[in-house]
Amino acid sequence: MMRNIQLRVSLEEAGDENILELKIARHLGISTGEFTFKVLRKSIDARKPTIYFNYKLAVYTKGETLDKTEYTFEYKDVSKAKPIHIIGFGPAGMWAGLRCLELGYKPIVFERGKNVQDRRRDLKAINQEHIVGEDSNYCFGEGGAGTYSDGKLYTRSLKRGDVRRIFESLVHHGAKEDILIDAHPHIGTNKLPKIVQNMRETILKYGGEVHFNTRVTDFNIEDNRLKSIVLQNESEVTVERVILATGHSARDIFELLHKKKVALEAKSYAMGVRVEHPQEIIDSIQYHCSGQRNELLPAASYSLVEQVKGRGVYSFCMCPGGFIVPAATAPGEVVVNGMSPSKRNNLFANSGIVVEINVDEDIPKYEHLGALKGLEYQKDLERLAFTSGGRSQTAPAQRLTDFVEGRLSADLNPTSYQPGLKSAPLHSLLPKLIGSRLRTGFKAFGEKMHGYYTVEANIVGVESRTSSPVTIPRNKTLEHVQIKGLFPCGEGGGFAGGIVSAAMDGERCAEAAVVGL
Ligand code: FAD
Repeated sequence: MMRNIQLRVSLEEAGDENILELKIARHLGISTGEFTFKVLRKSIDARKPTIYFNYKLAVYTKGETLDKTEYTFEYKDVSKAKPIHIIGFGPAGMWAGLRCLELGYKPIVFERGKNVQDRRRDLKAINQEHIVGEDSNYCFGEGGAGTYSDGKLYTRSLKRGDVRRIFESLVHHGAKEDILIDAHPHIGTNKLPKIVQNMRETILKYGGEVHFNTRVTDFNIEDNRLKSIVLQNESEVTVERVILATGHSARDIFELLHKKKVALEAKSYAMGVRVEHPQEIIDSIQYHCSGQRNELLPAASYSLVEQVKGRGVYSFCMCPGGFIVPAATAPGEVVVNGMSPSKRNNLFANSGIVVEINVDEDIPKYEHLGALKGLEYQKDLERLAFTSGGRSQTAPAQRLTDFVEGRLSADLNPTSYQPGLKSAPLHSLLPKLIGSRLRTGFKAFGEKMHGYYTVEANIVGVESRTSSPVTIPRNKTLEHVQIKGLFPCGEGGGFAGGIVSAAMDGERCAEAAVVGL
């Protein structure tokens, strides 16, 4: 018989590798040889000085099998099947492609960037030579913005079944099974490229196509129906169903659609800065310790939120033991984001700290730009970061306490940001809408987490690509409200925020796109 039980193991007990077995036996009043078990969920409770690992376990009496997975992925040979064209090979495009294989349709993917291996060279050029390639960078290329990231797999989606399916497909393509049980699963930037490559190989093996270095530059629309798409080499591809999964940074796509009078809507989003602390400070706050954390504990993370003058100020994409990375997609702009290796063993903890921007109330000067008003405001902030950082990928920065107290930093703390930092008066440079709320927010965060508000932290500008500033509206069948055959998908369409939700939306769009084909 299988039984689900919950147990907790203190940090002190956790050093004993047999502790779970012993505790289960004690809990159920049976001896250790009489059962096998599977961990269903593991989380850490560090709210009090005694830290516990909480476990949800499935216990099987002897002889029963342990089912590891709930889903099977039955990919069909689609080499001769009807095509679905997919633009963009980020999480939304990848999972749309994989779902097409299951549904018996041939995914044909066009991706402006390079495959994961070749993409690495361009990332090096951004970090070391400050050269930003417009088709290959931290956002564009195989795996999209999710490849060189922390690979956090958190989502606010309540559709647990769908989330589980995405996790299992990641495991199917090489991710560790830990992601199926951790309360806060993550993969890490050193592991993601291989998983992404495996997904591409699945698509190719079953007869799909993935074309790298192939930017889509135009759409031919007749009588409100998408007829063909134009590629960067000027070839034209006749299409019937197109999943548009180009992400929140494909500004040329938003501008092209706007120019063609395809319905778009401005979307509220958030912008701010990235804050970087020594990881040891965050560990000591979260784990109530001084100096190094216990080796059984992962690098500590945090999640903070505060309402300031009617707008949320909150932490975004926190990367424990990680790096700040240059995430611009064109020359002339500075954008920062964060990533971590799987072990999260770098010396720094970084997180976006961002302010909600209500595009209908907060940026009246941009009103005349219609659906692109939020996008243009975002661009202006990124240009400001570029000029105040010294017109390279060097980013403008300030000590956290100097930012809040309104003075230029004489010097800065060490950083993980490879292109380097330049001291800049961000307190006066950032628009008041963002800057003044951030200053109040940081003070409040210092009261919630004692030690967080410290001279040892830097803030780095700007964290501007938290979500899409534009929605590409779609109807209930997930087709664009005006253009037949076009299925806006993932984060760029405004339908996802993060790897898992983009992946789930990719699956949904594939299911919608094949209807009636
Ligand atoms: P994207 O991933 O943006 O993919 C879009 C793809 O479309 C890109 O590959 C792009 O090259 C391609 N494309 C664009 N225009 C064209 C065109 N004209 N023709 C052809 N192809 C085109 N999320 C998390 O959940 N956890 C994290 O830990 C995390 N960390 C992140 C770290 C960094 C540095 C960054 C930048 C993002 C991070 N994110 C994270 C966000 C996450 O990566 C995105 O939410 C997710 O990738 C969105 O998926 P998507 O497929 O909708 O779009």
